[in-house]
Amino acid sequence: MAENRASRWSLNGMTALVTGGTRGIGHAIVEDLCGFGASVYTCSRNQGELDKCLNEWRSKGFLVSGSVCDVSSPLHREKLIQEVTSIFNGNLNIYVNNVGVNYRKPTVEYTAEDYSEITAVNLDSAHHLSQLTHPLLKASGKGSIVFISSIASVVSLGTGSVYAACKAAINQLSKYLACEWAKDNIRINCVVPATTNTPLVEHLLRNKKYVEEMLCRTPLNRIAETEEVSSLVTYLCLPAASYITGQVICVDGGLTVNGFQPSMRLT
Ligand code: NAP
Repeated sequence: MAENRASRWSLNGMTALVTGGTRGIGHAIVEDLCGFGASVYTCSRNQGELDKCLNEWRSKGFLVSGSVCDVSSPLHREKLIQEVTSIFNGNLNIYVNNVGVNYRKPTVEYTAEDYSEITAVNLDSAHHLSQLTHPLLKASGKGSIVFISSIASVVSLGTGSVYAACKAAINQLSKYLACEWAKDNIRINCVVPATTNTPLVEHLLRNKKYVEEMLCRTPLNRIAETEEVSSLVTYLCLPAASYITGQVICVDGGLTVNGFQPSMRLT
């Protein structure tokens, strides 16, 4: 390998788009990518919250810009990519598909509107934004996409069937695109978090019984922090991960590999 160690572990000079960077996992991803030297563009639906984050990041010396965008709207997605194209001169090294939404209900209670909204935000946007970023990622010569999935894509957890199905589709989209776009020097991987301490699940984390039941199935016996997810995302974007593509990797404290731990000593 021609590159030296410092350049394999750096994103200096690279450009990145992270959707939903104003809170939770997306916020940690923006900060990690910037910390490794990337220039980042992000979006969310709330102008006030976005401006607050942009100001904080600028005061930390991070190179971040952004705009309001609802990723469930095809027109907003197109406008977002026009802005990214213009700000990064048609080159994009990294696209992190982070935005996700969920409403938990028994399957028979989902309305057609619920179904459309959950699939528009979680799946339609992932597919369409991949199409739209493809020329920019290809133009950069070294592109990388990271999708944020969920362990609901591999095990049943009471998250609701629509979210689970969308996230499972994202896992396969990652594998499929990894094969289709390898010729364009674009790597595609998928990070699969378990419950992580963010506003999305605040209401669940306040429910003591839910947390107890979750921890009882989690070998590391705690809920993930956002940085524990963003570090894997960042690693997958680094030149250090240049031979990794098409992988679906859980950040779950061991939950998805846990059968059960017998309490008695077995001989
Ligand atoms: P979060 O705390 O709710 O943050 C979501 C971010 O996305 C915010 O910046 C939000 O800003 C933005 N956003 C939401 N809907 C949007 C839309 N339609 N268009 C544009 N921006 C939008 O979520 P999170 O917990 O960090 O989740 C991030 C990803 O991780 C999601 O894909 C989620 O499914 C996945 N995940 C989370 C957990 C968990 O336990 N937290 C577990 C597994 C997987 P605005 O609301 O202002 O738009």
